[in-house]
Amino acid sequence: MSIAENVLSIKNNLPEQVTLVAVSKTKPVADLMEAYNAGQRIFGENKIQEMTEKWAQMPKDIQWHMIGHVQTNKVKFMAEYVSLIHGVDSLKLLQEINKQAQKHRRVIYCLLQIHIAEEETKFGLDEKELNEIFDFVENEKEGMKNIRIVGLMGMATFTDNQDQIKKEFTHLKSIFDSKQNLKSEICNLKSLSMGMSGDYKLAIESGSTMIRVGSSIFGGRN
Ligand SMILES: *Cc1c(COP(=O)(O)O)cnc(C)c1O
Repeated sequence: MSIAENVLSIKNNLPEQVTLVAVSKTKPVADLMEAYNAGQRIFGENKIQEMTEKWAQMPKDIQWHMIGHVQTNKVKFMAEYVSLIHGVDSLKLLQEINKQAQKHRRVIYCLLQIHIAEEETKFGLDEKELNEIFDFVENEKEGMKNIRIVGLMGMATFTDNQDQIKKEFTHLKSIFDSKQNLKSEICNLKSLSMGMSGDYKLAIESGSTMIRVGSSIFGGRN
């Protein structure tokens, strides 16, 4: 199937509350334009430089999501235009995003990344660190006016074991649910970003509201 057909067939089968992020990392602008012409407006990238080059070349009604690990010193390169940063995993990074957003007189939307996988290698916060960030932000409201924490993100273990993946997604959903009482101007968790090409159906069953799908749309990567 073509990229356009892939986008449409995935979209047409999604529940209403689920948003599709088309993960276009490593793919050329021509491929992204095929998805764009099929109606896709949200693209996810994992490298700031690559995302910025694509942003410069592509239509301006696209929402760019940073889904990869973000180095603090690179936030400035996307602060002008990024619409959602999925992988926020430290207070230091959140403060830098706030500072750069302020420079551009805008608000940047963020998801906090939670560590749910068994592997040591995946980034993310544990629950204690998550609570520390919420406490800090609630106490420093005035100083954090240029960010909004609008949800959580997680990546399951890379495994074929469906029960394991399901257990990790369910765990993330339970953390997400337990924070629904935190409704302030700055923190209001509405989005749960979980699920990729291999596991997005399981993620949706587990309560995902945002899936990040790359290879099922654009084909495999090198
Ligand atoms: C690459 C990537 C995806 C998409 O992976 P596919 O398996 O190609 O769908 C999703 N989320 C993150 C964080 C990624 O880096």
